[in-house]
Amino acid sequence: MHHPGETKKTDFLVDTDYFMAVAVLSAQRSKDPNTQVGACLVNQDNKIVGTGHNCMPNDCEGKLPWNREGAKLDTKYIYVCHAELNAIVNASANADVKGCTMYVTLFPCNECAKLIIQAGLKEVVYLCDKYHARPETIASKKMLDRAGIPYSGWEVLSNIVFILDSIRLSDTTLRESSSIPTTLLALRISLLSLLASATLSLLPQHATA
Ligand SMILES: [Zn+2]
Repeated sequence: MHHPGETKKTDFLVDTDYFMAVAVLSAQRSKDPNTQVGACLVNQDNKIVGTGHNCMPNDCEGKLPWNREGAKLDTKYIYVCHAELNAIVNASANADVKGCTMYVTLFPCNECAKLIIQAGLKEVVYLCDKYHARPETIASKKMLDRAGIPYSGWEVLSNIVFILDSIRLSDTTLRESSSIPTTLLALRISLLSLLASATLSLLPQHATA
């Protein structure tokens, strides 16, 4: 309840921005030298039930190639587990992924679209669609359309500044703790630059396959 004279906080981080920010941060865990993708799975109560990033199968990290070119068996493509797959299988044991929304930094490929449909997810929110002309992406949209699963692009440009701003420690926090640990300040700075560079690198105009 809002009482007269009370200051109402209006600069809170909205849910969709938070979930996409988590997906962006998850992408940073990827060891793929070229493409880092992150996903965040959210249930109908707006709770995160799983996150994922593109990685090699368990216990295979460092033992399989990240190459994009060469003989098929020497490239990453036939080995890598996509972020969406990992978010679904990483979902906490008691979580029901049915009806969840997938927040993902890159539009799901055809294989992930199959997973999304078969797992019973209800919506996809993506950050970047730089491979929209590829058959895999076209097939993905075809399947999602047929399955009645809507997908929408996250409003990057209107929200990124706000997200970055939200990560900053508030002025009050800084004032009240005169001995604020330098590690905390360093963490804040690295988080800011991380999120900024990650998000910018995911924007279509900065895309380099
Ligand atoms: Zn995929």
